[in-house]
This record gives sequence, C-alpha cells and structure tokens, in this order.
Amino acid sequence: MLDNKDQGKIFLSSDYDLDIDERKVKYKNFNIVLCEICKNKINHNWYCRNCYDNENNEEKYRMLYGKCKRCFQAMKIRSWCLSCNSKRFEQDFNKWTSGNDEIDKLIKDSQTSSCILEWIPYDRFTDVKFLTEGGFANISSATWIDGRIEKWDQESNNWKRSEPIKVALKVSKVMKESMNPNPSEDFLNEVLYIE
Ligand SMILES: [Zn+2]
Ligand SMILES: [Zn+2]
Repeated sequence: MLDNKDQGKIFLSSDYDLDIDERKVKYKNFNIVLCEICKNKINHNWYCRNCYDNENNEEKYRMLYGKCKRCFQAMKIRSWCLSCNSKRFEQDFNKWTSGNDEIDKLIKDSQTSSCILEWIPYDRFTDVKFLTEGGFANISSATWIDGRIEKWDQESNNWKRSEPIKVALKVSKVMKESMNPNPSEDFLNEVLYIE
C-alpha cells in the first residue's frame, strides 16, 4: 500500500459535519491538511482558525464539534448533542432506580443538563479499598468496570464508554449509621459540587 504520510490533503467545508474523532480518523495519514476555503493549515483541533473568526455562532459550533447525526444541529459540546442525549437518558428513566426518590430526581435532572450523573449499581465496582474518613462520608477507592459515558455511538446504538477507570467512592455516614435511606442535604451538596 502507498504510504502517503507526507502528503497533504484538502479539508472540505463539509468535513465540519464530522465530530473531532471522525476528522482525526479521516486525516490521520496526512501531515499537512489545508482548508478548502482559505488554503491555510487546519489546526491541531481540526478546524481552520482563519475562517473560524469570520463565521456566525452556529457555524462556529459546527466547526468546533461537528453536527449531530440524529437532529443535524451543530453540537455545542464536544461529541455531545445535549437535546438528543437528554432524550436518550429520558427513555431509560424507568429502567433504573436508586431506591430513593430524592436521589433519582437529582440524577434525572442532571441527565437533561450538560453535567451528567449516573446511577451505578454497587456490583459494577471492583477493588474497593478504604482510603479515609471525610466530613460527611467515608471514602474508598475502586475500579468502575464500565467506565464513564463519553458519547453516543451511532454504530452500536448505545453509549460509548471509557475503559474501566479508578474512582473514589463516598459512603454517606448519615445514611449508613441511621440506616436512613434519605441522604442528608450536606451529602447531596457534596455530590453536586464534586470537581
Ligand atoms: Zn480557512
Ligand atoms: Zn442531536
């Protein structure tokens, strides 16, 4: 096969419909990629900085993140169509429950925003090791087998997840000690403002 690593390629304006990962794959074999419109070099974030400045907001988003394959709107977040992904989460609302209405509501609300929380059954964690005692919770380290959601995968028609990742587990002291299934407000606040 011909090695065209040193060759250049023209980045088409229609390529902005692709998301960043797809652009990377399409142009991975080329050292130099030039903008179809102004012939400047495409930057390492896969858009033409020169053309970007002259575009309206909607087009700027398309250049940055591509278009959603379902609703054809420019994505406002990398690899994430907020309106389509919110609907996908909503379709699964009746497929899981934490067993606590307040926590369910907190998670569901987050899933229609851009800061996603998920309910994860405890058996999806391995290597649980106690680390330390915090203010409202005891903290352990663990491996989350499935890993976090990264984007919607068109081909498998499911969420694309990271590899298994190391996470910190917090066990609410109030809930544990009192066997009270209701989390304290302090604990929920800690969850909400976790970095
Ligand atoms: Zn350009
Ligand atoms: Zn969409």
